[in-house]
Amino acid sequence: MLLIAVSKTYPLAAIEEALACGQRDFGENFAQEAREKFQRFSGTSMRWHFIGHLQTNKIKYIIDDVSLIHSVDSIRLADALEEAAKKRNRNIDILLEVHTTGEATKTGMPPEQTVDVARQIARLPHVRLQGLMTMGPLTEHPEDSRQSFKLLADLRRAIEAEHVDGVTMRHLSMGMTHDFRVAIEEGATMLRIGTAIFGKRADTVVDEQK
Ligand SMILES: *Cc1c(COP(=O)(O)O)cnc(C)c1O
Repeated sequence: MLLIAVSKTYPLAAIEEALACGQRDFGENFAQEAREKFQRFSGTSMRWHFIGHLQTNKIKYIIDDVSLIHSVDSIRLADALEEAAKKRNRNIDILLEVHTTGEATKTGMPPEQTVDVARQIARLPHVRLQGLMTMGPLTEHPEDSRQSFKLLADLRRAIEAEHVDGVTMRHLSMGMTHDFRVAIEEGATMLRIGTAIFGKRADTVVDEQK
């Protein structure tokens, strides 16, 4: 089980403190903010996870430093990552983000497309699919997330059963501050925790993509 400290919107001092406590894996949501933090901590033993919506024109901000992109939600984005990785002569590890709640506001690809998209990604030589990611519904109640997490675990089994060359389903990235216990029960391998580590974020997160 890997604990990812989600440091979006938190200052560098908060990250330094977590790093000094031995935390190694950190998650960021916004490409420009991520780039600044990546640069500040380059040369350390940190591993950066990108967990927010990624626009193709911002891949360049993060690709040189990121160790795993959790939020790939289209074949178009995977194709753009292939091109960027190829140009840099490196491989990029990704997870597919799946929309498991039925809520209109959530990102991620529809569950029924996931197996097919996994097969298409398997053909991209520089993009390595390592598993799946999801977010539970926007509620306070952890139990409301259980169906989402079960669905993600089922999809993982379905993709594993396909035995697609070049695809491993090593990771299930699910569970945040309010629902991580349920995520553990349903088989999470990566938890993405912000608030429980750093405290309440000051503002609602600004969408820098506008
Ligand atoms: C902000 C965020 C988290 C962490 O949320 P907390 O409730 O603060 O633990 C996890 N995953 C994603 C995708 C996020 O955007």
